[in-house]
Order: sequence, then structure tokens, then C-alpha cells
Amino acid sequence: MAAPAAPDYQAIIDRAYAKYKDLKEGKNADYIKELAAVDPNIFGIGLVTADGKIYTAGDLNSRVSIQSISKVFTLAKVIEEQGEEAVRQKIGVDATGLRFNSIIAIELQKGKEINPLVNPGAIAAVSMIAGADSAAKWKNILQTHDDFAGEILYVNEPVYISEAGDNLRNQAIAHLLFAYGRMYFDPVQATDIYTRQCAINVNARNLAVMAATLGNGGVNPITKKKVVSPETCAFTLSVMATAGLYDDSGQWLYEVGLPGKSGVGGGIIAVCPGKFGIAVISPPLNVVGNSVKAQKTIYDIVKELKVNPYLVSPKM
Ligand code: GLU
Repeated sequence: MAAPAAPDYQAIIDRAYAKYKDLKEGKNADYIKELAAVDPNIFGIGLVTADGKIYTAGDLNSRVSIQSISKVFTLAKVIEEQGEEAVRQKIGVDATGLRFNSIIAIELQKGKEINPLVNPGAIAAVSMIAGADSAAKWKNILQTHDDFAGEILYVNEPVYISEAGDNLRNQAIAHLLFAYGRMYFDPVQATDIYTRQCAINVNARNLAVMAATLGNGGVNPITKKKVVSPETCAFTLSVMATAGLYDDSGQWLYEVGLPGKSGVGGGIIAVCPGKFGIAVISPPLNVVGNSVKAQKTIYDIVKELKVNPYLVSPKM
């Protein structure tokens, strides 16, 4: 029997692009001053299949800072280097149910049972990454992002400088974790590396390749480089499913059924394991911090592709 025809990915993303391109809802993040100045009209879509086909629509030239989406790739690298048990024990993998930079969440559990995709756990993950000193840890993190993207990525220096001058809350988080013995490197330097990591610049194609690498068992479908193991991808995707979209993580899973991760720069990635990774960039965010257009676009595309794994045709 002939294999079923591949879906017409290009037509599907083109339709979603046309539907949402003029939508004006949401507002750029402004608690990091430089993000408020980013063009709110940037709108790019990338979809990369596990066998390396690339489909894009809209703006692929503009880059935005990766922000929280970076947490995913550093987490994957830490799982790869230290094993999933170390992450479970030294950070935790349950959603906190509180805001992404909540200090109460740390206090409630004395730094235990936090989550690598919200700030305390993400800074702890940075502190665990291999490297004898700050420079070596940063090199490891940037190389990991490059490998996932299959491209050399650069830091958006104005965004980094803007956030570094203003990240007292993240520094407080890192110090509090340190006080509880749950920060595994100097808290000031770990916060600085974390801030730099969040300022890595990406376009929608980069993010889609990164997502597709997670969806392809850790092998970059474009460069064919083995970045992390299939097991590491599975653990990472599970954390994305429960905590990838801030306080709307439950609603996201309810609607989309796929692990995703958003960042306040305006990007969202979603992964359909074994099939593809998708990414959309559009800076204006809703009240919980997720890109309005990116969320709607991915929702439509996933629905049209019928790839929600919880949606099955009954056997009669
Ligand atoms: N660098 C940002 C922060 O730590 C990342 C936030 C985000 O994208 O959720 O506040």
C-alpha cells in the first residue's frame, strides 16, 4: 500500500499567516526596557520536519531575543551531562503553579521542587551546566544553542545590557536558592550567564530547527549532528508539556496537545515528536506573557494537521 501523502505544510502555514498577519492584539514585554522597542509587526513562521524539510512564511530576517525558550536547551544539556535524576533531585520537575519569577514558590518548598522552565529552576540549571568557570559554562551553553539551531547564534547585546542592569529580582532568586543550598555555582555569575542566554538572538527558522531537533530524538534534522539523546529529549519535552507556557500551560496543552515553550521576546515553539518542530515569532504578548499571534497561529496549524496525540480515530 502506498504511504499516505505528506500534509501540505506550506499551504497550511501560509493560510495561518494570512489569517493572523493583521491581528493587532497584545503588547510587547516592557519590564526589560529594550523589548518594548522591538517592532511589534515582526511575524514569522517556521516549520521543520524530522526528515529535514523547511517551510517558512512571513518575516525570517528579523531576530528577537530567545528569552525563556533558551531554558529548554540548557535543561536538555544538563540532563544530557548529569542525567535526569540529577535534575529531578537538584531542581525538581513539577510545575510550581506560580508566576515564572515567583519568590514565594521558592520559599514554600525551601528551594526544592522547583521547575527548570521557570526562572529559579532555569538559573539553577545554568549553575549545573558543565564548565570550570563562568566563561566555560557560557561557551557550553552557547554551543548547545548553536548545535540545536545548526547555526552560529549571537547575543543581542542591547537586550543583554538592558536586562543585566535591571535583573535584581533574578539575582534575589539566585541568592535565595544559594541560601537553601540549591544553587550549584556562584549566584551572581549564574544569573549573569542566564541573562546572556536569554538574549541570544533567533529568527523563526532558527527556533523551528531547534524545536525539530527536540522532535527528532536529539539529532538536528538539517546538520544531522547528534546534539542530545532521545531519552534527554523525552524528559525535556515532558517538562515543556507541563510548564512551557507560564500560567497558561494547562490551557495550552488542553488546546494544542503538544509540548511548547514561549518566551517574552515573542517566540513560541511547539514540538510534534517524530514529525516536526514549529516556531512562530510575534512580539506582542497577552497578560500572562505569551505571544498572542504565535499562540493562535500554532493552534490553527496543529488543528489543521490533526497532530494532537490525544486526538484519535476510534477503532470500530
Ligand atoms: N530573561 C527573562 C527573565 O528572566 C526571561 C523571561 C521569559 O521569557 O519568561 O525575566
